[in-house]
Amino acid sequence: MSPFQCNHDGSCSKVRLCCIETEMTLTRKDVERIEKRGYTRAEFVVRSEDGFCELRNVDGHCYFYDPDTLLCTIYEDRPEGCRYYPVIYDMRKRRCVVDRDCPSRETMSRQEVRKVCNKVRKLVETLVREAKFHDGPC
Ligand code: SF4
Repeated sequence: MSPFQCNHDGSCSKVRLCCIETEMTLTRKDVERIEKRGYTRAEFVVRSEDGFCELRNVDGHCYFYDPDTLLCTIYEDRPEGCRYYPVIYDMRKRRCVVDRDCPSRETMSRQEVRKVCNKVRKLVETLVREAKFHDGPC
């Protein structure tokens, strides 16, 4: 099977599902990298009920998603979690899963999922550690 192919042109369903009503969590490094582009964290970060820093949604989509072009406006500096999508971590089951909402999920080989999952696990460890020590605004 060929490597995972994201339909970056939005052809999966006219929208990039992963950027719609996003719940993408952010590490401190993600926030700092995006801030270097000239954004303030108050613009694009919110704290979730369970204590994680997340991307803000505006009009039902990620702050950085452009509904006209169907593209991410910070693609080169997008958060780590966005890079690993559609592999996500199911906190309840405590394991990686391939998001069922992604229409391209079938293009991912098991080998690819396993490789990305190792990175996702490390990311989750970082996110949990950072959330524990920060209970104020992100
Ligand atoms: S940062 Fe970019 S890739 Fe990530 S959810 Fe937002 S628009 Fe999508």
